[in-house]
Amino acid sequence: MRYIFETSVYPRKLESMKELRKLTAKNIMTTSVDEGRILNMMLKLINAKNIMEIGVYTGYSLLATALALPNDGKILAMDINLENYELCLPVIQKAGVVHKIDFSEGLTLPFLYQMIQEVKYHGSVDFIFVDAEKDNYLNYHKRLIELVKVGGVSGYGNTLWNGYVVPLDAPLKKYVRYYRDIVLELNKALVVDPRIEICRFLIHDEITLCRCIS
Ligand code: SAH
Repeated sequence: MRYIFETSVYPRKLESMKELRKLTAKNIMTTSVDEGRILNMMLKLINAKNIMEIGVYTGYSLLATALALPNDGKILAMDINLENYELCLPVIQKAGVVHKIDFSEGLTLPFLYQMIQEVKYHGSVDFIFVDAEKDNYLNYHKRLIELVKVGGVSGYGNTLWNGYVVPLDAPLKKYVRYYRDIVLELNKALVVDPRIEICRFLIHDEITLCRCIS
């Protein structure tokens, strides 16, 4: 992994991404460096302009994606915690992308419910990164599918645990057991959903990309 980073990410790493990494380096919630690169590259490949993020924390994935958008691109970023976003704001401002970000503080599900009541939002989004509240991923999926355009993508973070299906015979903390079952349920549901095609990337915990086909 170190070799891969030394020959891809590090030599061309942006100062702003480095700075943000330092802010959050010790927290396991943060998107990994390679996951940030994948998100950034994918948005450029699909020419994304209008995107959403659920679960901002201190903005590592937010900055990685904001940097990939054209100057008039937009991100609707949602989190229940404004303070963490404010921590990363100076770095995002310095990177010159703050004008692309519209931060909304609060619970995401009710917000999405409001959004899908308005027809103008249907099929309006190029990409959505879901990185919060795993136990609601399936509820998110039901709503997000209305918002993502055909050919657009939704990405679900942490669809495995450190890249593995947690074995049941391991001594598991309660919350790991809880999320294990929820994530396995999600993975089962996504693969048979005829409205999307999926691709699973084994980076970080794993990210599952769902391309909307109808
Ligand atoms: N994408 C971030 C990590 C997100 S961590 C990064 O790259 O660093 C998960 C975040 O989800 C936390 O900041 C938490 O406050 C937020 N969260 C938890 N429940 C939420 C909800 N119901 N709606 C929106 N955000 C939520």
